[in-house]
Amino acid sequence: MRVLLLGGGGREHALALGLAGDPEVEALIAAPGNPGIAGLAELRQVDAADPAAVTALAVEVAADLVVIGPEAPLVAGVADALRAKGVAVFGPGGEAARLEGSKTFAKDVMAAAGVPTARAYSCTDAESVAAALDEFGAPYVVKNDGLAAGKGVVVTEDRVAALRHAAECGRVVVEEYLAGPEVSLFVVTDGEAAVPLLPAQDFKRVGDGDTGPNTGGMGAYAPLPWAPSGLVDEVMASTVHPTLAEMRRRGTPFAGLLYVGLAITAAGPRVIEFNARFGDPETQVVLALLETPLGGLLHAAATRTLADHPPLRWRDGAAVTVVLAAEGYPGTPRTGDVITGGDRPGIIHAGTRRGPDGELLSAGGRILCGTATGPDLAAARDAAYELVDGVTLAGAHRRGDIATAAVEGRIALPG
Ligand code: AMP
Repeated sequence: MRVLLLGGGGREHALALGLAGDPEVEALIAAPGNPGIAGLAELRQVDAADPAAVTALAVEVAADLVVIGPEAPLVAGVADALRAKGVAVFGPGGEAARLEGSKTFAKDVMAAAGVPTARAYSCTDAESVAAALDEFGAPYVVKNDGLAAGKGVVVTEDRVAALRHAAECGRVVVEEYLAGPEVSLFVVTDGEAAVPLLPAQDFKRVGDGDTGPNTGGMGAYAPLPWAPSGLVDEVMASTVHPTLAEMRRRGTPFAGLLYVGLAITAAGPRVIEFNARFGDPETQVVLALLETPLGGLLHAAATRTLADHPPLRWRDGAAVTVVLAAEGYPGTPRTGDVITGGDRPGIIHAGTRRGPDGELLSAGGRILCGTATGPDLAAARDAAYELVDGVTLAGAHRRGDIATAAVEGRIALPG
């Protein structure tokens, strides 16, 4: 199988590791890729959000499967263009990707499908925002309606800050605050059959103890020793299958990766958000534990044969990833600094590039992450920190508490 992988972040480096490790994958081409992916794939340049350009590249490289990493090409309809050309693609079409592309659309689908989620209002003016904030009370949750690279959500006790964020965004969804630990559940689907991966937890806030602003994610671990038993089956029944059925009913089946972001509240699991692609950095830990070859799994989802795919096999133990971020992130990051220690196994590249002499340079907000497995969560965490702490980059920062509360048994389920 010849596979074309679109994207160039940490998620795509993790996908590339999985795809390159699949004996059925004879050629891996990545566009644009990154310096970490360069060791695993042939790199090509393409405007990933241009459906015609991606289709031309897929035909040129004779791809049997295209895997779309990021959300922007999905929302831009790249998967539709590929399917129209008869190319097997892992990723939903543009209409189905609106589950991520528009919070209002996602809420509408959830309501129609009876999916348990936070009560919410879609608002476009200051008056309706204020009314919604006052109905739900603090903490206030205000979400930009459109794509915002994981940074469009403000959760705050400060009513003025909530109003300011709404004014900056235009259309927003204001919703009730969901209290409880968060879970990211990835589901591989061909539109009808659906296979859950291991639940993971990520760390959205920039600072230790979940302080500071939201980021794209500062670390992750899997599996979740504290998760209620039966959680995955419950979410498949309450959320995933009803959502997939509603998307089929609308004539826009969702095929690809349905990312279900959940809060485990006193009343049970509630959806915080849907995404239409693998999450970053949870992908790094989930795929580190997946033993089943990745290319075959994604190909089955892309060719509507997932019901015939054998059950997934998982490695024993646990995986942890710790993100190293540039100075300034999640604001404007400092870039162009030399990174040392970044070219080691287990280091997953996200925001790096090669300088003229082959040196590794910082080129983004989240620079790289150290990803390790171990016989248990504590061992995996220690190994991930050892990896990431072997990297030097001026001004860089990382969280010090990734997976620590889980290792110490301090995650309490409400109720
Ligand atoms: P989202 O982009 O929708 O995942 O939101 C980013 C982060 O904001 C989530 O991972 C949560 O930590 C937080 N968040 C979003 N919606 C809610 C909510 N209704 N209640 C509590 N926290 C939320």
